[in-house]
Amino acid sequence: MLFGRWVAVGVLGAMGLAAHAATIKKQPFGKTQGGKQVELYTLTNSKGVEAAITNYGGILTSLKVPDRAGKLGDVVLGFPSLEGYLKNAPYLGALIGRYGNRIGKAKFTLNGVEYKLPKNDGENTLHGGPKGFDKVLWTAKEVPNGVELTYLSKDGEEGFPGNLTVTVVYTLSDDNELKMDYSATTDKDTVVNLTNHAYFNLAGEGEGDILGHLMQIHADRFTPVDAGLIPTGELRPVAGTPFDFRKPHAIGARINDQDEQLKLGGGYDHNFVLDRKGAGMELAARVVEPKTGRVLEVLTTEPGVQFYSGNFLDGTIKGPGGKVYQKRYGFCLETQHFPDSPNKPAFPSTVLKPGQRYHTTTIYKFSTEAAR
Ligand code: BGC
Repeated sequence: MLFGRWVAVGVLGAMGLAAHAATIKKQPFGKTQGGKQVELYTLTNSKGVEAAITNYGGILTSLKVPDRAGKLGDVVLGFPSLEGYLKNAPYLGALIGRYGNRIGKAKFTLNGVEYKLPKNDGENTLHGGPKGFDKVLWTAKEVPNGVELTYLSKDGEEGFPGNLTVTVVYTLSDDNELKMDYSATTDKDTVVNLTNHAYFNLAGEGEGDILGHLMQIHADRFTPVDAGLIPTGELRPVAGTPFDFRKPHAIGARINDQDEQLKLGGGYDHNFVLDRKGAGMELAARVVEPKTGRVLEVLTTEPGVQFYSGNFLDGTIKGPGGKVYQKRYGFCLETQHFPDSPNKPAFPSTVLKPGQRYHTTTIYKFSTEAAR
């Protein structure tokens, strides 16, 4: 009886600990051009895994996870200070919205009304426009194991209709899972597609290119693109193409194949149509870095993931460790609805109406594997 009580207390204690696994440290991170104070929130779990998030652009600035020997390494690309993020052309670590990836010809029609958006990628709009959610200051609040960011995107901001109230919660668990929980409501019909743009290098930021990482993506199909990287509308089987990652392949194994789609993307820069059983949380991708043994699993409720092999990184950025980021020094797995969905009625809808709640969740889960 007494033993039973102790067990119960022990279990509850352990559960209590599990429920409040991460400590949170808040530090000043500089000021915006407009003079507003920016903060950096560092979440640390009981295993020493550490995720740093700033309320400027909701950016994940660093993520330290162990290798197979237990040595921590920062596995996301970043800048040494806020200054770099104020420009952040390649969207390192950023929270992307109101519409992740491209909207073709920078316009879409909703309920018979045409909305024109600012162009920031040739003829198209990329990642919500020149002042997307990655370049605004979010209101931050500490929550158990994490930080909650909120932002009101006003009706007409970057051309999109409706006042959109967005909440993104980052939490870190003792299972080495960084979870991003996105929600939004609107007062007018609009389109929404939120994601995170972390560039991973599981060997550590600045530690060479990512071509030796073994990538597995649970997708039978992908969305081929035109020369402007806008989906053509086709859902093409990956079978027999360099886009077949149903079994793990080194990212670099086929990246230079004679393939029209690889040429258009300058490598991989494509949306994969995830094989889903239902609407819940499912494994989208698993990546292994053979030398360090670090493993990243991406789980999501989203229907797609943009696998981008860092083709536009060009040696102009130096990371916090002083190393220069060359082409393909990082890859992104941006969970999302498909690019250009507002102009592709056959794609899953990105329309959000008043009274509805947009809600998606993505987890980056870290572990290690023994040497192969
Ligand atoms: C896009 C790339 C783009 C990159 C921005 C990715 O999501 O698919 O084409 O260059 O973001 O750095």
